[in-house]
Amino acid sequence: MSIEDERARPAVLLNPLEGDPTDADSHIGGPMLWPIDEPWPHCDGAAHDPAGAGEPFVGAVQLYRRDFPELPFPDGTDLLQVFLCTLHHDLPHAYGPDVRLVWRDAATVFELIEEEPAPSVQEELYVPTVNVLEPIRFAEHETKTSGGTKIGGWTAWWQSGPIEFECPECGSVQRQTLSLATHEPSGDDVEWEFGREGNLNILTCAKDVQHPITVHVD
Ligand SMILES: [Zn+2]
Ligand SMILES: [Zn+2]
Repeated sequence: MSIEDERARPAVLLNPLEGDPTDADSHIGGPMLWPIDEPWPHCDGAAHDPAGAGEPFVGAVQLYRRDFPELPFPDGTDLLQVFLCTLHHDLPHAYGPDVRLVWRDAATVFELIEEEPAPSVQEELYVPTVNVLEPIRFAEHETKTSGGTKIGGWTAWWQSGPIEFECPECGSVQRQTLSLATHEPSGDDVEWEFGREGNLNILTCAKDVQHPITVHVD
């Protein structure tokens, strides 16, 4: 095995395609499986630029374990939901939307929220179109890093150099869990834009994905 082979990491391109998913599907920009009796996530507005009142997050991505077993689901969960506060935030490693992850057990959701709350104001460039996913699995080499929306793999460094992030809670190395892309290899972009047509990278603690995440825009 060559050195390059040893440095191959499993990756999954989400490969979004315009479609009409339901809350029972993995998707980008479609309806979220959200219980009626649980408060919808709201942004505390602390990192808003300019400062604004807390707005509801927007359902951005949801990924079921049956479709994406590669994700580091905590025990008892089978659904990852990614929410964005679609305003500009001045975060430590990102100028862009804020991100909230919810790891859920889909089987415990019986009655769904009737209507997802909509922000009173948002930046259109952070709002995705509605897409189904046709994943492509591959081994990614550091030398040929895909800039598409993907799980795992290597970070596509663009404007910043390689940075290693540590979990603010336990000090473990964080790993790239999900990267959201401005441009897809297929050419079917979901019409959101991060940084200068770059990527929004979500890094999670290698020990416990429910520790605080890092959002990195490059
Ligand atoms: Zn916000
Ligand atoms: Zn940690």
